Amino acid sequence: MDNHKLDAFKELLGTLKKIVIIPHKNPDGDALGSCLALQLFLTKSAHTAVVISPNEYPEFLCWMPNQEEIIKFSKSPDQSHLLINDADIVFTMDFNQLNRIDYMSSIVSNCPAKKVMIDHHENPGDYAALTYSDSERGSTCEMVFELIYALDASLIDASIATCLYTGMMTDSGSFRFPSTTARTHQIISILIEKGAQPHTIHQKIYDTFSFDRLKLLGTTLNNMKKIEGLPVVYMTLSQKELDDNQFKKGDTEGFVNYGLSLLGIRLAVIMIENTSEKIIKMSFRSKGTFDVNQFAKKYFNGGGHINAAGGISSTSLENTVTQLRNSIENEKSQFDV
Ligand code: 5GP
Ligand code: MN
Repeated sequence: MDNHKLDAFKELLGTLKKIVIIPHKNPDGDALGSCLALQLFLTKSAHTAVVISPNEYPEFLCWMPNQEEIIKFSKSPDQSHLLINDADIVFTMDFNQLNRIDYMSSIVSNCPAKKVMIDHHENPGDYAALTYSDSERGSTCEMVFELIYALDASLIDASIATCLYTGMMTDSGSFRFPSTTARTHQIISILIEKGAQPHTIHQKIYDTFSFDRLKLLGTTLNNMKKIEGLPVVYMTLSQKELDDNQFKKGDTEGFVNYGLSLLGIRLAVIMIENTSEKIIKMSFRSKGTFDVNQFAKKYFNGGGHINAAGGISSTSLENTVTQLRNSIENEKSQFDV
């Protein structure tokens, strides 16, 4: 972070503030980790800080330090509304457009608080008075580390370190995506010194599958199809298949990555039917130069990063598969390089 930006944060936090911190809808490890780490840090700095999540998050994140204090807008809209309208500062974490917080977006854009964005997605929106955006970073947690380490490194304790480690680990596919840098590992080293326990965090995130969840992964892998002549695989999950395996929020997290573990595959897609929201939720993962951020934006009303993005389709699962195949056919020259 440059000195000018750091000075802006120092000035903003120079007097005691009432602060609300918001992750994107369906928060993942990076969104929750960055919010919780920042909240713990600000609270230790004597500010008043709460985290308000737009909705629920998966069970495999329900052990994170201080997560039990998170307010869910979907459960407590009135309380959330009051807190947001009473805040001096609203931090928005791990997203770059207010539509990523869905029904909370109008409340946030209309509230009197100063808005701050900390995020690592490309093309940040301009809703925030203070924007700390860096798409070269592998995670928002890495950016929160840089901020709080510069503000007061002595306040980083084992809980804060655990939150940041979790987000850095989950957003980097356990430190194997290209966004992983020497700085990432330097930060991880400091976090371990501050008390983060890598083996415990890995176990809590990755080795807590329910029997049903592992069976659902089996169904997903059974449904996997390869597109002839292209380095592409896609997977589908119908609502019935989800129901048959007692699907719970977060159960499909990470399934799409299995496609990229195949030799030679450079694009993997998963399409998951959600009959109550009448949508198909899509996730895209790529290796190399196939830009899934642009692809999701162009064809499926979504976005994300060059190698990991999401999107939405409002037609049937069957039609979505056809649309996907046609869209990939249009873009297949991207695989020539
Ligand atoms: P995932 O596939 O794990 O849901 O998301 C991968 C990446 O794409 C994340 O950085 C996430 O924030 C972003 N993303 C997922 N879904 C959407 C979407 O519908 N719209 C946009 N703009 N980004 C998304
Ligand atoms: Mn992230």
